[in-house]
Amino acid sequence: MAQHYDLICIGGGSGGIATARRAAGYGAKVAVIEQSRLGGTCVNVGCVPKKVMWNAAHTAELMERAGDFGFETGPVALDWSTLRERRAAYIERLNGIYGTNLDKSGVDLYRGQARFVECRTLEVDGERIAADHVVIATGGRPVWPRIPGAELGIDSDGFFELTEQPGRVAVVGAGYIAVELAGLLHQLGSDTRLVIRHEEPLRSFDPIIREAYMASTQVSGLEVVTHARPESLERGADGRLTLHVGDDRRLEGLDTVIWAIGREANVDSLGLEDIDLHRDHNGHIPVDQWQCTAVEGVYAIGDITGRFQLTPVAIAAGRRLSDRLFGGKPERYLEYRNIPSVVFTHPPIGTVGLTEDEARDEYGEAVRTHEARFVPMDFALGETKYRSAMKLVTVGDEERIVGVHLFGVGSDEMLQGFAVAVRMGATKADFDDTVAIHPTAAEELVTMG
Ligand code: FAD
Ligand code: NDP
Repeated sequence: MAQHYDLICIGGGSGGIATARRAAGYGAKVAVIEQSRLGGTCVNVGCVPKKVMWNAAHTAELMERAGDFGFETGPVALDWSTLRERRAAYIERLNGIYGTNLDKSGVDLYRGQARFVECRTLEVDGERIAADHVVIATGGRPVWPRIPGAELGIDSDGFFELTEQPGRVAVVGAGYIAVELAGLLHQLGSDTRLVIRHEEPLRSFDPIIREAYMASTQVSGLEVVTHARPESLERGADGRLTLHVGDDRRLEGLDTVIWAIGREANVDSLGLEDIDLHRDHNGHIPVDQWQCTAVEGVYAIGDITGRFQLTPVAIAAGRRLSDRLFGGKPERYLEYRNIPSVVFTHPPIGTVGLTEDEARDEYGEAVRTHEARFVPMDFALGETKYRSAMKLVTVGDEERIVGVHLFGVGSDEMLQGFAVAVRMGATKADFDDTVAIHPTAAEELVTMG
């Protein structure tokens, strides 16, 4: 007979582990199935190694500006292998901590690929296990373009495997991953170009963010190749890559091309067809507000659902599901609104709530906006001046704040507290009544007049 659990989570990434440990905390008998390294995308090929690289790039940026304050500076070299080795050692420590934490919580870990054989029975490496509740948290993987020579490029997973720093690199794509990788590579000294299909990247962001980002590339010198649609990639006799981008335009002499054009759901191996679980037009698993799929007792959380593909979202959805199923909290669910996120560009972007366009679609004439544009004090003494930009989107006579959009130094750490305020329903008057902290960039948000 198959071993029986209260809950099985397929996927030992951000969402699966959080769901499992919360359920086990309530006394449920829980198993996690993971086919690869614990921690999933975020720990192994996502947030964590990316942030390490961003921190390295930020350090390079600060060293570059040290001369503004009178420090004697000279050329400094980056030892890519040291950075890579230290990053890998840190991630290995995290993999271990995740394993220990599962153990401490009393969660059974099955190593292997899970496949449904019945609605709530799974097969892992020939062994069958069953549960009252099954959570699918299998995340996603990078999409590759279907163009000749695509295999000569790499994706974001491949970026973290690079043993040498790219010399001349093209990053193709216009979302979070593309702008982050292009930004940090440029800052670390690689000759980098961001290749996008339209006039600007980050098209789902508020216009003030796109405008400020594009202005920042003028300051940093990061080349943005616009209206460029990848058509083919080829390797010449000299080993260098040429990327053809339409209208007879080509980018030559590249040693690395990184595809960062989106992510798709990890479902191929799950056997969803055998339990009649259908996917939506983007390949994601549809769920209702309770994370329930169309199959009773089967739930989905995190990237696999296609909504707000962020680590804290996968964790929050999973923990709330376990609160509901095992913690006696029948009303717990994640509201997919006012979810803050940061794009780790140089300088970073922070955003929570509605863009101006989204607010106008929802509230029409009741929308008002307030903006600030300024050079933060960080750049007061030097020639390099990255401008910051901020926008508040408000609704109604009381001017309830429904959107905060930040670009500039410190936006990454600034946003979390403001996200609490937005969630609590803060109004413009609340912001104005809050005493500023001087001198900071954040004070601009409470002194917009
Ligand atoms: P995952 O973390 O992907 O976990 C899924 C797990 O399921 C994987 O370990 C996989 O091996 C396993 N699996 C798949 N199929 C099976 C199977 N059949 N059987 C057993 N196991 C299986 N988010 C942020 O919030 N901040 C960031 O700064 C950030 N940066 C990112 C940078 C990059 C380059 C990328 C790619 C992503 C980034 N993200 C970031 C997004 C974040 O990593 C994801 O939103 C998050 O990891 C989703 O968690 P998840 O549990 O849904 O899936
Ligand atoms: P995104 O969906 O954010 O962006 C991909 C973009 O690439 C598209 O919007 C599109 O922009 C462009 N694109 C699509 N197809 C092509 C093509 N064939 N050729 C050229 N460009 C193309 O995907 P990402 O892979 O960047 O990131 C996936 C998700 O991971 C993010 O949405 C985010 O949720 C998460 N993430 C979060 C991070 C964070 O929190 N800091 C960091 C990294 C990832 P256009 O239509 O304008 O051309």
